[in-house]
Amino acid sequence: MTRSASSFHCELAWLGGDLPDADVRIDVAGGVIERIETGAQPAQDAVPLAGLTLPGLANAHSHAFHRALRGRTQRGPGTFWTWRDDMYRLAAALDPESYHRLARATFAEMVLAGVTCVGEFHYVHHQPDGTPYPDPNEMGAVMLAAAAEAGVRITLLDTCYLGSGVEPDGGLRPPLDGQLRFSDHSAARWIERVERLFGRTGPTSRVGGAVHSVRAVDPQSMGMIAAWAATRRVPLHAHVSEQPAENEQCLAAYGVSPLGLLGRRGALSERFTAVHSTHVDAADVELLSRTGSMVCMCPTTERDLADGIGPTADFAQAGVAICLGSDSHAVIDLFEEARAVELDERLRSGVRGTHDAASLLAAASAVGYRSLGWPDGGRIATGALADLTTVSLQSVRTAGTTPGTALAGVVFAASAGDVTDVVVAGEHLVRDGRHRSIDVTAELDAAIRATWAAAA
Ligand SMILES: [Zn+2]
Repeated sequence: MTRSASSFHCELAWLGGDLPDADVRIDVAGGVIERIETGAQPAQDAVPLAGLTLPGLANAHSHAFHRALRGRTQRGPGTFWTWRDDMYRLAAALDPESYHRLARATFAEMVLAGVTCVGEFHYVHHQPDGTPYPDPNEMGAVMLAAAAEAGVRITLLDTCYLGSGVEPDGGLRPPLDGQLRFSDHSAARWIERVERLFGRTGPTSRVGGAVHSVRAVDPQSMGMIAAWAATRRVPLHAHVSEQPAENEQCLAAYGVSPLGLLGRRGALSERFTAVHSTHVDAADVELLSRTGSMVCMCPTTERDLADGIGPTADFAQAGVAICLGSDSHAVIDLFEEARAVELDERLRSGVRGTHDAASLLAAASAVGYRSLGWPDGGRIATGALADLTTVSLQSVRTAGTTPGTALAGVVFAASAGDVTDVVVAGEHLVRDGRHRSIDVTAELDAAIRATWAAAA
């Protein structure tokens, strides 16, 4: 990736306040915003960005290969657990080549949707029978390559996954056949493998860690992973309380909630993000608040999987920062995730206006960047990463918006298809809704068909 200087002239740009500013010139050097001028004259040396320019959007929770499930799990009655059977059938068919192709196409779909930074919660580590590939980090490496090719910034959240559930006495059940390829057998071996990933990142990629869930990692291993993440000063994520059954098993075995257990083992901190946190209680919210932990809501997946509605009003009141993820990629649209946080809360509480447009945009940008270990991203500010997402205000969904209504108009009505331009590290990746180097539709189609053909 070149690191040349460039300039952009934004018709409107959101610099973090209640209203966007007009005629904003953004000068970029070395992938970073060097200078911002509001009320600037359009100039020949600045690329014009019509519409509303936002900080680049962060998709803080992704399993890229789940994109192949879209449209294929919507049949008959079922639950999270029946959906998971479909997902395991897909996971069993993956190899490094198909994992790479799916991820490259899915990351490119994200870029078209305005996503400039992704957190990939990566747990398909080994061959289907659990044997490591000759390069034990081959699957992680193809994920890093896929992100670089699509142009998206990535934090590879390498995920520790050791077992299939909690025994009532606190022991961990061994992995099921479909989970063998996720497991490194111990936290120590997981750490040893992940340590070797650090040398393989580039200027727009980083490594973080994840505890898959209390279902898949025992408390002692959780403590080792937490200590490792603290020493390494990297983000640590975990699926938390997505399903009531997880809470019940955790309480029966350990006498405490999943967040309570993670807290006891030292996992909660300002670098920790609890993904989902759908079924949490007041003590859990207090624990998140006290430790400065974040939550990642994935509303389109949570509704798709019939998980439930998380207590986002309680998070907001307790000062727990919320970020967003498209998780299973039932859809990839950060505006849909953002407005769902507020609209689901309206359905739950009967009250409108808990989360305003600016706070939802912050969830989709700055908070996500912080969660993924890029605290200097997700803002349009001097010294911030030069990642930008521009949304048309002249689409059928956004026409009629004014500077005064643009933020709410975009958050509550725009779609991913209204994104016209995307800049990552100063590189203009998407112009007029087209990716610079990837035919995204064709690659998605080919990658998904080939993967299912291999699964048949
Ligand atoms: Zn997930």
